[in-house]
Amino acid sequence: MTDRTQPEGALLKREALLVCGVVQGVGFRPFVYRLALEEGLAGFIGNDTDGVTIEVEGPEPRLAAFLARLRSEAPPLSRIDSVAVNDLPLAGDARFRIVSSQVLGRVSTGIPADAATCPDCLRELLDPRDRRYRYPFLNCTNCGPRYTITRRIPYDRPQTSMAKFPMCPACQREYDDPLNRRFHAQPNACWECGPSVWLVGADGGEITVEDPVTACIGRLLAGQIMAIKGIGGFHLSVDATNQAAVMRLRQRKRRYGKPLAVMVRDLEAARAVCALTAEEEALLTTPARPIVLARRREGCGIAEGVAPGIPWLGVYLPYAPLQHLLFADRRVRALVMTSANLTEEPIAIDNDEAQKRLGGIADAFLMHDREILQRCDDSVAAVVDGAAQLVRRARGFVPLAVELPLDAPPLLAVGGHLKNVFALARGKFAYQSQHLGDLENLTGLEFFRESLDHLMRTFEIEPRTVVHDLHPGYLSTGWAKEWARERGLDSIAVQHHHAHVAGCMAEHGLSGEVIGMALDGTGYGTDGRIWGGEVLLSKLNGFERFAHLEYVPMPGGEAAIKEPWRMALGHLRAAGFDPGSAETLALVGATGQEARVLARMMERNLNSPLTSSLGRLFDAAAAVVLKRRVVDYEAQAAIELEGVAVDEPDDEPDDEPGYSMEFAAGDWAGHIPLRIGAAPLWRELVDDLRTEVSKARIAARFHAGVAAGFVHAALLAREATGLGKVALSGGCMHNRRLARLLRLKLEAEGFEVFQHARVSPGDGGLSYGQAAVAAAMLSKRS
Ligand SMILES: [Zn+2]
Ligand SMILES: [Zn+2]
Ligand SMILES: [Zn+2]
Repeated sequence: MTDRTQPEGALLKREALLVCGVVQGVGFRPFVYRLALEEGLAGFIGNDTDGVTIEVEGPEPRLAAFLARLRSEAPPLSRIDSVAVNDLPLAGDARFRIVSSQVLGRVSTGIPADAATCPDCLRELLDPRDRRYRYPFLNCTNCGPRYTITRRIPYDRPQTSMAKFPMCPACQREYDDPLNRRFHAQPNACWECGPSVWLVGADGGEITVEDPVTACIGRLLAGQIMAIKGIGGFHLSVDATNQAAVMRLRQRKRRYGKPLAVMVRDLEAARAVCALTAEEEALLTTPARPIVLARRREGCGIAEGVAPGIPWLGVYLPYAPLQHLLFADRRVRALVMTSANLTEEPIAIDNDEAQKRLGGIADAFLMHDREILQRCDDSVAAVVDGAAQLVRRARGFVPLAVELPLDAPPLLAVGGHLKNVFALARGKFAYQSQHLGDLENLTGLEFFRESLDHLMRTFEIEPRTVVHDLHPGYLSTGWAKEWARERGLDSIAVQHHHAHVAGCMAEHGLSGEVIGMALDGTGYGTDGRIWGGEVLLSKLNGFERFAHLEYVPMPGGEAAIKEPWRMALGHLRAAGFDPGSAETLALVGATGQEARVLARMMERNLNSPLTSSLGRLFDAAAAVVLKRRVVDYEAQAAIELEGVAVDEPDDEPDDEPGYSMEFAAGDWAGHIPLRIGAAPLWRELVDDLRTEVSKARIAARFHAGVAAGFVHAALLAREATGLGKVALSGGCMHNRRLARLLRLKLEAEGFEVFQHARVSPGDGGLSYGQAAVAAAMLSKRS
C-alpha cells in the first residue's frame, strides 16, 4: 500500500488519458474510480468513442503511481491496447467523478464479448446465505452476457434485453455504487427483479414444478433429451455417460458421426476425462470458455457415441450460472451440450422458434425470459503445436476486434461458403462476426443478414467496398455483388488461398512478401480449377502461384468430398494403379462396377473437376488406410487419419522423412508453377499395407511425407526468390501433427514460420484475410 499523506510541496499536475482497448462494460470505470480515490486524485472518467477518457489531477508522484497501477491492476476482462497521455492546465476539481458519455458529447461504441461467471458470482450462487443463492442469472461487471443481449449501442441497459426487467431497490443500489462489483453491470438482476426459468414439455405446455432446474436434472439423469436455453442460443443436452441417450439424440438430430461437445463441472472433472496440457487448461478456463479439443482418457466414462472413431473429446466448462446449477448436483458428471439445431442450421434462440424447430428432438425445454438478441454458438479451440488456435470463433470472442497491419477504408468482407464468418473493417481493426455456419440456403443467408445489420449498427461502419471470394458459384459471392450493386459500391474478388495466407500475414503484421502455404480443402483457383495444396509467393495485395499439388480428378465432383473412396480411386489412378484391378478395388473398397463407372467418368472428363487439394489427398489416404468410404461431416476422414497416428512419435526433421513426393519442375520465369506429385507416396503406402505395417505407422509416415514435400517446395521457393518467411494457413492447419511437423522441418531449414492464433486458419478466417487483401489493394490505389 502506498503512503497516502501528501508530500509537502509536491508539484501538482493534471493529465488527460485516452485508454484504448477492451475497456467498456468490463468494470473499468469503477476500477479507475477506486484507483483515483486510493491515490487521492481528483478529476473524472467517461466512456469515449474508442475507449475511455480520464482526466486526473494531483501531486506528480501520485499521478505516476496511478498510471502504473492502471496497467498492472486492470480488471480481468479488460485489455489495454494503448494509453495516450497529455498534460493539461490545472482545473482544481474537488473530487473524482464518473461522468456519462453524454457529458463528453461522444457516443461510446464498445460492446464487450460474453464472459463466463466469475469466481465471486459463483461463490454467491452456491452460498445459502446470499440473496442470489441459486439465482440462474446472477452476474457482475466482471462476468455475464454482453454481446448476445445487446440490441444497439451504446451498451446500456435500455439497449439490452434486460430493458424489460426494472431493477429492484437492492439491485439499483449496487448498480449506482461505484465501489460495488455491480456498478453499471447492465445485466444486473436478482430473484426479486430479474429473469426466471420454467419447464415446458415437448407438446409446448408448461410443466408446473417446484424447481425447474432440479426437475431438468432429474430428466437428464433419467436419459431424457433437454433443450436448455443458454447465452447465445439453445443447447440440446443429454447425460454424456449414457450411451443410449447419446444415440437417441444423434438419431433425432440426424447428426450421426460428428463429435458432440461435453460440459463437465470444473477443471478437475475435465482432467478426469481428458489428458490436459497446461496450455489446454489455460484455454479451458479463459473467460471465453471455448470448447477445447483435447485427448480423451481411456475408460473415462464418457459414452462411446459422443466422439466415435477419434481420440479427442471436445470438452468445456460451465460459463453461465444456470449451467453451474446443473452441475451443483454431484450426480451430474458430464453433459452433452450441443447447439440446438438440425445439422448446419443456425442455432435456435427464440422460445417459440425453439419449440417449433426442436419439438421433435427434445423431450422437454428449460426456458427463460431473458431474450437472446444475437445468436452465438460456443467457440471451439485447440492447442496446436503448443499454441492456442481457434477452430470456431464465436461466443466469448465476438465482437472483439483483430488488428490489421494497415489502415482499411470502411469495408465488408463476406467470407466463403462453409463455416461462414464475415468481417467489417475500418481503420486499424477488423471485426469478425460470430460463426454463421454454412451459407448453403436461405436460413443461413437470413442469419448472415441479421448479424451483418447488427454489427454494422454496433460499430457504425457503412462499408464503401465489398470483398468476396473468387468463386462465382458461392451464395456469398452472388449476395455480395448484388448488395454492392444496390448501393453503388465497388466489389473486389479475392482468391480463396490468397485470403488464407494474407490472414496469417496480417495477424503477424507482415506486409512484405512471404512464402505462403495454403493447405486446405477446396477453394476456387484463378485457372478455374479447385485449389487446396498451394505454395504462394504472397504479398498482401497479390500473389504468384509457385507450387501446387499435382491435379487429380474428383470423380463425381462434390460427391467425391462426401465419399472419400472416389478420391482414393482418382489418386491411385493418377499414381499409375489400374483402377479396375482386384488390388485397387480392395484398396478403395469399391465394387468392379463402381470402379468402372468412375474410371469412365475420369477418362472422358465427365463431372470430374481437377483439384490440387491437400484435404482431398488426406481423404483419399484415409479411405485406403482406414476404409473410410463415406463421411458424415467435413474433414472426418482426415481427422480420423490424424487420430490413428496420435500415439506414434512425431518424426523429427533428421529422422525418416516419411513417404516420398515427386516434383515436376515449373518454369518460374514463365509463370508455370512447380507440381508436387503424390505417385511415389501412394506406391510406398500401398507397399506398407501389403507388408502389414500398422495403420498408426502408415498414417505417421503419410503426415511426415506430406510435410517434407511442402518443405522441399519452400526450399525451392527460397532458392528462386530469397524469401525466408513462411506463413502457414488453410483448414489442414487444424491438423496438429501436420502443423507441428511443418514448423519443425521448416525451422530446421532456417525458415521463420508464422501460424494463426486469433483467427481460424480454416474458412472461418477467410473474411479477415479478404479484408487485409482489400485494404492493401485500396491503399495502393489511392
Ligand atoms: Zn461476476
Ligand atoms: Zn434485483
Ligand atoms: Zn479454405
